[in-house]
Amino acid sequence: MTRRTTAMVLESARTPLVRRELTLADPGPGEVLVEVAACGVCRTDLHVVDGELTEPSLPLVPGHEVVGRIAALGPGVARFEAGQRVGVPWLGWTCGACDYCRGGRENLCPEARFTGYTLNGGYGGYLLADARYCFPIHGDYGDAEAAPLLCAGLIGYRSLVMAGEARCLGLYGFGAAAHIVAQVARHQGREVYAFVRPGDAAAKAFARELGAVWAGDSGEAAPEELDAAILYAPVVSLVTAAQKAVRPRGTVVCAGIYMTDIPSFPYELRWRERKVVSVANLTRRDGEDFLALAPKVPVRTTVQRFPLAEANEALARLRDGRLTGAPVLEIAG
Ligand SMILES: [Zn+2]
Ligand SMILES: [Zn+2]
Repeated sequence: MTRRTTAMVLESARTPLVRRELTLADPGPGEVLVEVAACGVCRTDLHVVDGELTEPSLPLVPGHEVVGRIAALGPGVARFEAGQRVGVPWLGWTCGACDYCRGGRENLCPEARFTGYTLNGGYGGYLLADARYCFPIHGDYGDAEAAPLLCAGLIGYRSLVMAGEARCLGLYGFGAAAHIVAQVARHQGREVYAFVRPGDAAAKAFARELGAVWAGDSGEAAPEELDAAILYAPVVSLVTAAQKAVRPRGTVVCAGIYMTDIPSFPYELRWRERKVVSVANLTRRDGEDFLALAPKVPVRTTVQRFPLAEANEALARLRDGRLTGAPVLEIAG
């Protein structure tokens, strides 16, 4: 039985998404058909729509913070049952055979496929997903509240792990990811220093509410020497600011999938064993670890809801920074 669904579709880069009726096949072996309830709007979606990530499978349904329910199971799927709530994240498929996959680093698989980029995502009523990459969603989260956990949460968590044991932790860019990571970091006994877009008083207040010990403009000097800093804003000058702010042996973690070229900087900023690392994608292990931890913290997400038809508006507001917390599309039945 084929199904019709309405989706917001990217037909070519740098053009608005358009509403289209799509036909979905029955789930094949190992696949599930997910009826989408909510889908987060992530900065990565902007990089896809704006053509900065250059290899989307067009026409494309974006969206990789998908929360929905299993509408149909393909042959051989035993880990879920019909009606069960699941999340579909960015990592949609890996080869399982390469050195990265076999070494616990499937996030780096060169053959990997990604939801909402090289596979259709959640800006629509239904999507097909490989069941092995979906997660059950536990806890008392509403569907919209759970959506940002799927990328801002998962990849935010991976970036926090990469920051190591840092006690004084700087977060540059206080959007969807940072608002989740701040709560986890505080739960772990760390001190969070939030660096926001200059003059953004609302973001500073939001960061303080979530437990940051200090919140200031991204250009300001940190009040303490930081053990590590994580960059969620794709603003390349912040790499230099963060390198200045971390102590010797400190780490700067770049958590975004895209940045413009890093400008040159004095070697002194890297001297004394400072490191700059990037975070790429996620592993299923990251997802399992974070989704088990989130209800224990408990992580609370702040979302701004948009109907599916307003996906372009949600993207525009994310691009301009006119949001507090995480934008989420709600998909009505
Ligand atoms: Zn692989
Ligand atoms: Zn994302």
